[in-house]
Amino acid sequence: MTTVKYSIVIPIYNEDESFPALVTRLREVMDRLDGPVEVVLVDDGSRDRSFALMAAANREDPRFKVLQLSRNFGHQIAITAGMDAAAGQAVIVMDADLQDPPEVILQMVARWQEGYEVVYAVRERRDGETLFKRKTATMFYGIQRRLAEIDQPVEVGDFRLVDRKALDAFLQMRERNRYVRGMFSWVGFRQSAVPYTRAPREAGQSKYPLRKMMRLAVDALAGFSTAPLRFALMLGLVMAAMSVAYGIVAIALKLAGVADSPGYASLLATITFLSGVQLTVIGMVGHYVARIYDEVRARPLYLVREARGFAGGGHADAGSAVLWPAASQDLLTRGQHAPLPPS
Ligand code: UDP
Ligand code: MG
Repeated sequence: MTTVKYSIVIPIYNEDESFPALVTRLREVMDRLDGPVEVVLVDDGSRDRSFALMAAANREDPRFKVLQLSRNFGHQIAITAGMDAAAGQAVIVMDADLQDPPEVILQMVARWQEGYEVVYAVRERRDGETLFKRKTATMFYGIQRRLAEIDQPVEVGDFRLVDRKALDAFLQMRERNRYVRGMFSWVGFRQSAVPYTRAPREAGQSKYPLRKMMRLAVDALAGFSTAPLRFALMLGLVMAAMSVAYGIVAIALKLAGVADSPGYASLLATITFLSGVQLTVIGMVGHYVARIYDEVRARPLYLVREARGFAGGGHADAGSAVLWPAASQDLLTRGQHAPLPPS
């Protein structure tokens, strides 16, 4: 059994068009790394030929390992599943569409060897992304910076290298609504940045429709800040103060015999406005309650349907065949409970 030095984790959701190019580019980089490498391919419930291609890659080169989730769990969970299964001393996460150029890994590794425990890639430029995506991203990072309770670098996605120490810390955090990049800011350790140009997608469409992007944004804000709740409280206090002031003025005018207006329109406007505010605030609080509910149910983060190329515990053993169901049982339980203690 060889010990793996580097693990490259790649979440894959319907990427059969980019996959062949991905494998070619990865191979070049893998040959230039100074130790044994494994690639953990996570099939996040793809409906195209992705899994077949991944399985073929595993047959051809046992350094490619495959973890198939039971359905689409989403990017952030797929990354987590891959990191659970990774055995390396340094673990790299990157996208499958080659927007994160594999060559940047070499620069990250150099930083890691200097002693940094989290090396994240900063998008200096984004080529081939829509104006809408870039604008919403900038807007989001602005809000996030202002609200979040921990400092998070901007223009940083999930493309990063983490040392085993930081990874084990991260894997202890089993929260359901995950915002992986924020969680890595939270763990701390010695962090460093590597700038890169985000390339256009190799092939196919983005697997992040607006709906998933919004979800991620909400997870980022609600997961790392209770500012919306404080805002709700402030809003309530201000509204109450205003209505007291208004009441005093109304009584004073009445006593002075000045005003005796019917005021039906203003009454209705005030009531509808206030009910709108109330519903919004209740919804906001409800969102936090829903998150608590998610955590309390403590469902598994993900389920593994099949694992190929892993020899129990996610540790590398070149050439091992299909593990289902015996050895992947271990990978299964990782999804369900806290990660196994580092071995
Ligand atoms: N992805 C995933 N599950 C999903 C959506 C996306 O595993 O539900 C993967 C996808 O295959 C890719 C990475 O996450 O490797 C980033 O997705 P994408 O490139 O579509 O996002 P974008 O770069 O457009 O933000
Ligand atoms: Mg992409």
